[in-house]
Amino acid sequence: MLGGFPILHPGETVHSGIARLSSLLDCQSEKRLVASLFGRSTITAVKDFPAQLARLVSSFPKGSIPSPTVLINKHTLFPFFAAFQATAKREVVRQQMINSGAPYLALGLMAASCPYPNWLRFCPKCADEDRRELRETFWHRAHQVPGITSCAKHGIRLQDSAARYHNERNRHEFVDAESTVPQVLGYAESCCDVEAFMAFEAEWLLDHPAVDLPPERLREFFLRGLIMRNIANYNEHIRLSRLKAKMLESYGAAFLTRIGCGVSDSSSSWLTRMLGRNPRRQHPVRYLLMSHFLEQRLSSLFVTARNVSPEPFGSAPWPCLNRVCVFFGTGSIHAVDIRISNNGRSVKGTFACAQCGMKYLRLGPDHSQADRRRKDKIPAYGEVWESLLIALWNDSNISLRELSRKLGVDARTVQNQARRLSLSESRSGVSIASDKKDASLGGGCRPDEITSMRDSWLTAQGDFPFAKTTDLRLSHGKSYIYLYRHDRAWLLERVS
Ligand SMILES: [Zn+2]
Ligand SMILES: [Zn+2]
Repeated sequence: MLGGFPILHPGETVHSGIARLSSLLDCQSEKRLVASLFGRSTITAVKDFPAQLARLVSSFPKGSIPSPTVLINKHTLFPFFAAFQATAKREVVRQQMINSGAPYLALGLMAASCPYPNWLRFCPKCADEDRRELRETFWHRAHQVPGITSCAKHGIRLQDSAARYHNERNRHEFVDAESTVPQVLGYAESCCDVEAFMAFEAEWLLDHPAVDLPPERLREFFLRGLIMRNIANYNEHIRLSRLKAKMLESYGAAFLTRIGCGVSDSSSSWLTRMLGRNPRRQHPVRYLLMSHFLEQRLSSLFVTARNVSPEPFGSAPWPCLNRVCVFFGTGSIHAVDIRISNNGRSVKGTFACAQCGMKYLRLGPDHSQADRRRKDKIPAYGEVWESLLIALWNDSNISLRELSRKLGVDARTVQNQARRLSLSESRSGVSIASDKKDASLGGGCRPDEITSMRDSWLTAQGDFPFAKTTDLRLSHGKSYIYLYRHDRAWLLERVS
């Protein structure tokens, strides 16, 4: 058994720790070192997905090296890839890393279209800081992620070292960063926005090993962004040629090809596979690119899911927009009925306040907070609103303008609604030009309905013998309106 394993720095790869150990022991034979660590000398110096970690851990005194699970989550690239894998596959790979197997093959990385770097990479500013604070630098796992080209911390491009990522000539070579990264560091080149974004997201994935991002959930997440940009519609039809053109315009063909995300005709099928109705898993880099394109951080799926407006009308509750409702302007509506309209180009939301009975309709999606107070149509004003209109309609002390102000609608709407409610009398010099319906009898109504409404009104009067009719109109608006429209003579005999 060996004396101890070097304490791993945050984000240091397992390979880097073994390389530092080799250097500390001044090891002359890498094969012998590998044999003492893993029990046999044929183990390859894998930089990102080491296997046989249980054997490695058992080579050191208990507690002097983290457990295999901690090594996997904190010192390998496993979390970056695992987030996008099915649970079963993720466990297979984890077990292969703990025991033995070929995680590369299980993850399909050998055939991945997103190219691996040829060399281990470093950030000159990180290396400088490491040397100042730790007296040595090390291989950072976040700098070895395929497709990621910059340092998330410093926003500069990563640089190639002289150590190969996959060394076919010497598969047992453990090269330590301190002796490989130049002591005199050159010019640090700033990265562009998309590179910084992807590096930041990759680091977030590495730091969150429990994240699970199934392709169906990602498709739904991206579809929302595509609809907002008019690249897809609510029927889930995606304008692929428009999407490709926009991506080329944003990133250029050379960059897309370099990170394995080309969108020329022959190489754009990954978009179809990612966004099709039966989405297939893609290389993580492609998801990061799509996140940047749509300005939707993957982390927002977990961190702020409730604030991100997952639906076209944002999140509940929505305000009642009925001026006469006691809940006017407050969040009294907790559900919205959403229908696709305009051939999938927009959505229609119907909001109903259970307190006052008003229903309003709005075409979406919403684009700002102010939209939440917009109503495009009112299919039903509700009992409370109608009761007040009936109560005030014949009050000659209230002008039409005042009435419309009280009801929160314009004068024409007041007149139209009065006509609909058969309030056919002229009021204060205002006459409603309409086909006056004789509403004194219950024409067109079922006798049992009239009986039921009469019972309801009489019960209300019996329950509240001292209540004014105006109050009863508000509290029992449904039966009052019904009787006013269909059985007015009976009703007027019983109200003061
Ligand atoms: Zn850095
Ligand atoms: Zn209301």
